[in-house]
Amino acid sequence: MSSALETLRRDFGGDIVEPGAEEYAAASGSVLVAGSPALVLRPGSVADVQAAVGFAASAGLAVAVRGGGHGFAGFGTNDGGVVIDLGRLADVRLLDKERHLVRIGGGATWGQVATALGPHGLAISSGDTRSVGVGGLTLTGGIGWKVRKYGLALDSVVAAEVVTAGGEVVHASAAENPELFWALRGGGGNFGIVTAFQFAAHPTTDVFHGRIAFPASEAARVLQGWADHLRTAPEELTSVANLANPFTGGPEAPVEVHVSYDGDDPRLAARALDPIRRLGTVVDDDVAPTPYADTLVAGVTPPPGIRLLTRSAFAYPAEVSEVLRLLADVATSERSPILSVRSVGGAVSRVPDDATAYAHRGAELMLVTTTVGPQPVVEAARPGLDAIWGRLAPHVRGAYANFLATATEADVAAVYPPQTYRRLAAVKRRYDPGNLFAGNHNVRPE
Ligand SMILES: Cc1cc2nc3c(=O)[nH]c(=O)nc-3n(C[C@H](O)[C@H](O)[C@H](O)COP(=O)(O)OP(=O)(O)OC[C@H]3O[C@@H](n4cnc5c(N)ncnc54)[C@H](O)[C@@H]3O)c2cc1C
Repeated sequence: MSSALETLRRDFGGDIVEPGAEEYAAASGSVLVAGSPALVLRPGSVADVQAAVGFAASAGLAVAVRGGGHGFAGFGTNDGGVVIDLGRLADVRLLDKERHLVRIGGGATWGQVATALGPHGLAISSGDTRSVGVGGLTLTGGIGWKVRKYGLALDSVVAAEVVTAGGEVVHASAAENPELFWALRGGGGNFGIVTAFQFAAHPTTDVFHGRIAFPASEAARVLQGWADHLRTAPEELTSVANLANPFTGGPEAPVEVHVSYDGDDPRLAARALDPIRRLGTVVDDDVAPTPYADTLVAGVTPPPGIRLLTRSAFAYPAEVSEVLRLLADVATSERSPILSVRSVGGAVSRVPDDATAYAHRGAELMLVTTTVGPQPVVEAARPGLDAIWGRLAPHVRGAYANFLATATEADVAAVYPPQTYRRLAAVKRRYDPGNLFAGNHNVRPE
């Protein structure tokens, strides 16, 4: 490693953070998972990213690429390897006002994007949290507050600039390296480091955003009515239903239906939202016109030692009723994880299955369970969680990579069905034959 390190010190213009340095404690872990890398590199340019990749490859060190550092599985750090932290590559630039083309650095966060685009009346459908990274969220999906109208975050990507495992800078779009472009939209960080994305943003006004809450006892009826309504509601409406939150009462916690209506006409918004209000006894309703940038929440860093174990899957139309019935039942238990159901469908489902490497276009809902607590508590909850997923298994399919805290073979198979995986593996063989970028839901080159 020493001669590789000397070359790096010569060629690298960014920050090199080593164990013992004052900054190391803050730089070593990602937001949700602690780590003890041999080095953290913060490139300040594409050439720095090339130097960092060259260093990791020649030193034979494991690589973790960190975008916003919010990955649940902790891919934004490692033990003993090198972390390439893209946080300094966070520039957001409007390239073309007419076509709403935006260039975004591979280490930007969605908060930085929303703040930069708001004054131009633009937004990109992304996620719900400011501190989440553009890189991680986009490369495997991006289910945000405009998902039913504009699709996944990756559906708005029009080009990417990538540093490959060989240190080459490659551009990917429909016209240039189209197979890489296909793979980057769903295949995660497997193919290289995206130093910049180009997105087509959408015009936005204020949106009607907030939470409509119902008593826990009405969960089954509210969830079913909610899903029925979303089938015919305008695609301007995107919604997430949460239940069994232990911080607001566990089995007694209200059913929180979060809504975002993409438009500022109060009459149209009411027409989309009132049927939800009529589903049960409304105990809270704070829906109000809100600038899109303010719909994103800040995001919190859990205290050291606290684990978040997330699992996810998709519900397809024929099984939605049974899945919601099961979730309402699970929510009545003291030991229920936090249950969250997100509407997808709409624009997501209109993209052909093979247009990108995101393989779950036909799903109507995406569900997530989250168990939070100190590591031993989370471990003790696993058998109960397995039992819940055992009940759900016959009725759900696949998994959403962005809400998976694990990366077993079964997880990878759930994210990438065989046909998608085979096509991704062919792209992997071309751009990362040595599997340098293995810190992800890994597609192996062989
Ligand atoms: C509080 C919170 C809220 C969330 N809300 C949503 C939501 O509303 N919708 C949603 O869809 N998801 C959401 N997520 C999930 C989120 O999309 C994933 O956690 C995602 O992986 C985070 O990306 P990141 O860049 O912050 O993470 P990181 O841990 O930095 O990266 C995750 C993965 O992406 C790779 N990666 C990141 N950037 C690059 C890049 N530029 N080039 C190549 N590889 C890269 C990393 O190597 C790693 O494998 C949320 C997560 C949290 C913790």
